[in-house]
Amino acid sequence: MKILLKNIEKENYKGNLKSYLKESGYQALEKALKMSSEEIIKEVKDSNLLGRGGAGFPCGLKWEFVYKEKGRPKYIVCNADEGEPGTFKDRLILEKDPHLFLEAMTICAKAISSEEGLIYIRGEYIEGYKSLEKAIKEAEKSNFLGKNILGSDFSFKIALYRGAGAYVCGEETALLDSLEGKKGQSRIKPPFPTFVGFKDKPTVLNNVETLANIPAIVLKGGERFSKIGSPASPGTKLYCLSGDVKKPGIYELPTSITLKELIYIYGGGPDGKIKAVLPGGVSSCFLTAKDLDVIMDYKSIQEKDSMLGSGAVIVINNTRCLVDLAKRCAEFFVYESCGKCAPCREGTKRAKELLTNITIGKGESGGIELLKELQEVLYDTSRCGLGQSALNAVRSALEKFPDEFEKHILKKKCDLGVCPI
Ligand code: SF4
Repeated sequence: MKILLKNIEKENYKGNLKSYLKESGYQALEKALKMSSEEIIKEVKDSNLLGRGGAGFPCGLKWEFVYKEKGRPKYIVCNADEGEPGTFKDRLILEKDPHLFLEAMTICAKAISSEEGLIYIRGEYIEGYKSLEKAIKEAEKSNFLGKNILGSDFSFKIALYRGAGAYVCGEETALLDSLEGKKGQSRIKPPFPTFVGFKDKPTVLNNVETLANIPAIVLKGGERFSKIGSPASPGTKLYCLSGDVKKPGIYELPTSITLKELIYIYGGGPDGKIKAVLPGGVSSCFLTAKDLDVIMDYKSIQEKDSMLGSGAVIVINNTRCLVDLAKRCAEFFVYESCGKCAPCREGTKRAKELLTNITIGKGESGGIELLKELQEVLYDTSRCGLGQSALNAVRSALEKFPDEFEKHILKKKCDLGVCPI
């Protein structure tokens, strides 16, 4: 069953307004214009759609919070700042089917009584930006956006903003600050953006994939959607499969799929023998070959002490050194830490130093305990999710592959010949 890529995967689908209308495009908006806010929100709540940005928060509940807020104006902000290494799914929708989520934003705006939407798109997504710019103009020309949409008393406009490449701006409050023209750094939560969001007004913040589900939910009903995939997080999900796998790519599959099915049936099998898998990019914890039967929904992955995040599934074969990979993950977070709070700013640097020392034969036995302690401190005291999850991969590598670390430290040896010991 395809919801998100149903148009894109059709031969000759061009992604322009004409193609979109041929595939029942904007029929959900026409239906929503005849519905009350409560009715639209009820459908989204009935669907049990969980936000696909990583946190897995119920989308309908978020819309309801903003709808019930008294503050005016209200905003809808689309997070199109896809920055997790290994994630490239929103890009596909932005470039190939932009009307799908413009329609969704407009339906959301009708539900929460907003007149203004903003899209924050990753700076590197030049094609996506151009495609969106064109789609917004097409939608305005045909009155799917603008004043008195399709003859109704509802008006809504969408503005487009480009990010400047900071990973932390994928965090919702850092994104809002960046949108307001400030340095992209996270805010203390609570208050959450649903209550104090863009320009301190009530704001719905959803990512591209979450929104792209909305037209199908409104058109076919929330209850029907709730029966697709895993009951814990229904629907389909875009999994970005990469790393040591024969057929890397973007796969839209029901959330009831297992990791093994994803890799072996859709990904054509691993390239080499599976040693580990990162199910949600570099912020998640390593799974091992023993975990392949896990269901690819938020709850099941969490029960394995990892997280699905935005669905960046990175397969790692047995030629890779986990000490080296842990060091690379730490390096990424040193580079991307915004520097606002000390635990993350300093802790990521210390973790990188300790791991680098281990890879060059200067590791000391106390280093492992120190790394574990650092992870706990970052998790407990960092200001935002970036710092809190920065050493997840390191912690899980230490827990699940202790022999590799011990050999590097005690025997000064990298069995795989990857580290420059
Ligand atoms: S946790 Fe890291 S990214 Fe987040 S505010 Fe602190 S320094 Fe910045």
